[in-house]
Amino acid sequence: MKKIFAANWKLFKSPKETREFFTQFKEVAGKAKGELVFFPSAISLEAASTTLQGSAVKFGAQNCYSHAQGAFTGENSAQVLKDLGGTYVLIGHSERRKIFGENDTLIADKVAYVQSLGLTPMLCIGETLQEREDLKTYKVLDEQLHYGLAKADKTKPLVIAYEPVWAIGTGKVATPSQVEETHADVYAILTKLGFEESPILYGGSVKPDNAGGLIKIPHVDGFLVGGASLEVKSFIDIASAE
Ligand code: 13P
Repeated sequence: MKKIFAANWKLFKSPKETREFFTQFKEVAGKAKGELVFFPSAISLEAASTTLQGSAVKFGAQNCYSHAQGAFTGENSAQVLKDLGGTYVLIGHSERRKIFGENDTLIADKVAYVQSLGLTPMLCIGETLQEREDLKTYKVLDEQLHYGLAKADKTKPLVIAYEPVWAIGTGKVATPSQVEETHADVYAILTKLGFEESPILYGGSVKPDNAGGLIKIPHVDGFLVGGASLEVKSFIDIASAE
């Protein structure tokens, strides 16, 4: 399976910074050992679209609503993203779940809608530290996948990003054995649900110095990177690590 290296820029980088980044990044993108996908913030998507035109580097939105248009103040349209040439949408990132109160029902609608447009949803799942300490990791991931994929189409592309909430932006990367065990669990749950073809990315404090170890773990099909994706060098080092 081709690896996927995805960059979640969260609420960083203006359109100007986005253009500058991609102008530099295109020079080194060929070093990556897999597909590259960037998730700029909504206001910088058009800058990504124009600067990446003709390049194999893909881009997508960090969130979208489950309708193309309408009276939905503050939302993003996946249809407009598609018109711009975007191909992916991040759905259910833990920051969307926690800060913006997204629940599994809304997430399931978004996954189905994004697939219906021919775009690829990248569904994020992950347990909190409390849930891990309470030995509830499997149960939490099972529920997030069961409900989040309730309306998904098994015949259409879908990517899963496993991001333990306690490892996001904290510098506390999950240990290789935690990643191995949890990715095996996620794969088993996906198999049970009929989505075993979906790549499973790891996210949470991925850096150039831990990427080489993590990418070799079974069922780690790539990364979803936050902080270390904001610099050209650190992200391409991650995407080419071995
Ligand atoms: P960090 O790589 O900054 O921990 O962020 C991970 C993340 O949330 C990617 O979606």
